[in-house]
Amino acid sequence: MRIGIGSDIHRLVAGRKLIIAGVDIPSPVGELAHSDGDVVYHALSDAILGALALGDIGLYFPDSIEDTLNMDSGDIVRFVYDKMTEKGYRIGNVDINITLEQPKLKNYREKMRKNIAQLLNTSLENISVKAGTNEGLGDIGHGLAIKVDAIVLLEEI
Ligand code: MG
Repeated sequence: MRIGIGSDIHRLVAGRKLIIAGVDIPSPVGELAHSDGDVVYHALSDAILGALALGDIGLYFPDSIEDTLNMDSGDIVRFVYDKMTEKGYRIGNVDINITLEQPKLKNYREKMRKNIAQLLNTSLENISVKAGTNEGLGDIGHGLAIKVDAIVLLEEI
């Protein structure tokens, strides 16, 4: 087995979509990013790359190139999934923490789990998504940013 950790943070600004684990969530602000800014998919991808000791997503998807402008971050997860299977691993389980002041994510959580399970070709019971606020503290607490931490366990096939 191999274990990996990933984290990501994005500023939240007006005029951008709030996309979290592939779910487009109604919000007056969204992630500022070169890609679609899906902060869960970024942290998750980094966790899988970390478990494989294959670097980070910035190595494969630099924000300096035009090709990745507004890209669907699901494509990053698909890319990382292919790396994982090439190396002979599958998902054991995934645990994700989202820290966001608002909106509440409770109604979107199951859809997020489904999206992740589908991308990683694993069952729903292997995917955990949790969400909480920063209790009004700091930039996240003031609604200026969203942060995600992800941890994955991979099993050798
Ligand atoms: Mg990111």
